[in-house]
Amino acid sequence: MRDAFEIRATDGMARVGRLTVPRAGVTVETPALMPVVNPNLQTIPPRRLHEEFGADILITNSYIIRNTEDLRERAEKEGLHEMLDFPGAIVTDSGSFQLAEYGEIDTTTTEILNFQHEIGSDIGTPVDIPTPPDVSREQAEEELAATEEALSDAEAVDTGEMLVNAPVQGSTYPALREEAGAHAASTDLDVFPVGAVVPLLNSYRYDDMIDVTAAAKRGLGADCPVHLFGAGHPMMFAMAAAVGCDLFDSAAYALYARDGRYLTVRGTEQVDELAYLPCPCPICTEHDPESLRALDQRDRENALAEHNLHVTFAEIRRVRQAIREGSLLELVEERARAHPASADGFRALLDHAEQLEESDRVSKGTFFYTSPESARRPEVLRHHERLQRLETPGKLLLTEFGEPADHDHDAVWRVEPPFGPFPPSLSETYPLHAETPDRLEDVAYVAAADGVVSLAEANPETEFTLGHDDWPAAALGTVPDDVETEDLSALGE
Ligand SMILES: [Zn+2]
Repeated sequence: MRDAFEIRATDGMARVGRLTVPRAGVTVETPALMPVVNPNLQTIPPRRLHEEFGADILITNSYIIRNTEDLRERAEKEGLHEMLDFPGAIVTDSGSFQLAEYGEIDTTTTEILNFQHEIGSDIGTPVDIPTPPDVSREQAEEELAATEEALSDAEAVDTGEMLVNAPVQGSTYPALREEAGAHAASTDLDVFPVGAVVPLLNSYRYDDMIDVTAAAKRGLGADCPVHLFGAGHPMMFAMAAAVGCDLFDSAAYALYARDGRYLTVRGTEQVDELAYLPCPCPICTEHDPESLRALDQRDRENALAEHNLHVTFAEIRRVRQAIREGSLLELVEERARAHPASADGFRALLDHAEQLEESDRVSKGTFFYTSPESARRPEVLRHHERLQRLETPGKLLLTEFGEPADHDHDAVWRVEPPFGPFPPSLSETYPLHAETPDRLEDVAYVAAADGVVSLAEANPETEFTLGHDDWPAAALGTVPDDVETEDLSALGE
């Protein structure tokens, strides 16, 4: 167990947790958003981020501070908390971004970590190498080795109470990401950023983001707090939380505001093209698009940045609430409908249903079936695994209808798409008292048929009869030959 991080509630791989940041004397509830504060240009002052938006933690760049004379002098003299006027936890980045951008920087892990410690950072960062997507495996391996060396250098620095990030790299190679995660978790460092996903997010490759993050998580294990580095768009928080990310950082709120971009949980709009402001935040209730556009450049940018932050923090709260009530996958499913890339991301997430299932909790509110993807959720998988352990009597009727008045079966079990069969004793347990639509897709029946397969294979001695309600051929084709099937749909009329 890592001392700084405590998990309070889980939903799949997602969790609500508490990150204790000893040097700041604060505990941050996760999932959390860290606004990125440019030390040279504060769109919204950090004090306001804390008091009006509820930011408990922010991130700024120690490399820019170190290389800007007046900032450096002030940071050394006053300390970061006073310089930024921020009472929460302050995370500092190291210059790795500049390294990736310009090819070289004039510092080392040891030197920059000492500097971060000296100016009062609460969570410092070594100089890792953010390897972009799609490079050769050789390059990804070489750069990962350099990142791992930076982590050893970081372990050797005396950082007192300052927590230290252990970035996980490995480009788009899941095996390297997993290995990098396992290596990072074996260090005595504290917080684990999954690095270099920004190019994937910027090009809407949400499915690849899910695959590399799921791989990093396999290596890291459940008890490491994970930061999806550079992820700040609210449209993907639910999905990223579902794969086990705890921290997000947003430079987007300010950068997007600069080019007139208006964030929503469904995507990004140009404020020039909006006829209405579809948001209940203070900015959007005080303005209409015309009055917003009429503001001078600077005021307009600030107003947009404030709206962008309100939307971003609201989505973080919604994600936390969904995890607490066990409805995060329903939220992801809803968000997945907003953009084709989100749909791909959700489908990639469901490819890892087995990994999600391992940490999923046994009981939640009510399982809502809202799309064909619901049939692939970890709860369905878990039920099918449970069916392999259930014992059956000699002659068993599985039926979508009630118990017939007259029959010669030893027992009668219900069958419900997408889960399949279950004994009466389980009918009131999660997820089997699910809400499902009347008009289901074929995949839901195929999933139910998979459940029949699990049960029949585990109990070869039993004589099964399946009474179904006009199942499609794809589902009936999945049912084993020795299960007798009977279309009872006439009973339902
Ligand atoms: Zn708004």
